[in-house]
Amino acid sequence: MNIILLGPPGAGKGTQAGLLEDKFDMAQLSTGDMLRAAVKAQTEVGKKAKAVMDAGELVSDEIVSGIIGDRLDELGPNKGIIFDGYPRTAAQAHSLDEILSKRGRTLNHVIELSVDEDALVDRITGRYACTSCNEGYHDRHKKPSKEGVCDICGNSAFKRRPDDNEETVRTRMEEYRGKTAPILPIYEDRNIVSRVDGMGDINEVADALNAILS
Ligand code: AMP
Repeated sequence: MNIILLGPPGAGKGTQAGLLEDKFDMAQLSTGDMLRAAVKAQTEVGKKAKAVMDAGELVSDEIVSGIIGDRLDELGPNKGIIFDGYPRTAAQAHSLDEILSKRGRTLNHVIELSVDEDALVDRITGRYACTSCNEGYHDRHKKPSKEGVCDICGNSAFKRRPDDNEETVRTRMEEYRGKTAPILPIYEDRNIVSRVDGMGDINEVADALNAILS
């Protein structure tokens, strides 16, 4: 099974992809995570991507489609894939078709998580994560039970994404509205699009996704 999770920044794509990985034994492919790893490792791709990401704009189609193809080859032919944050433009959607067909894969579902934009800004600007186990927290909605200490691993260092500030979030949403949402009709023509209300709590959204995929 190969699926795309679509939705604006903060819609919960990463969280839900993580749950689906476990439930359906699939692999999450997040171009955002891969690019952040490249920035951290200061690779050529990372050096090119950093300023673009910090501004909330989109990295070039060639770069992201290249890293997606490479990662698929590493995973081998039998693993189901959840594409998280890719494709984000019409050019990427066409590249993905080629990438998949070259590897004998087909796209089964495109699921859009729909959300209210002001609530997203609140969600994103408050989020942070443990530097050790990556557990996610939120300034207002999910604080650690003991202040400054991770509930899961006891670590006391946390990180925030540099692009999770209000100005950059607004730019990321404009990019979504202008370049990513318009790719949905490509998939609607193939009858593989479903929509899920992403404003519910994590378990409600997960149940809705499971119902589509089971
Ligand atoms: P994300 O973690 O998906 O919110 O992505 C963080 C940032 O990485 C985005 O704001 C873009 O700058 C870049 N990025 C991630 N995925 C893509 C993509 N498919 N196309 C272009 N840029 C991307």
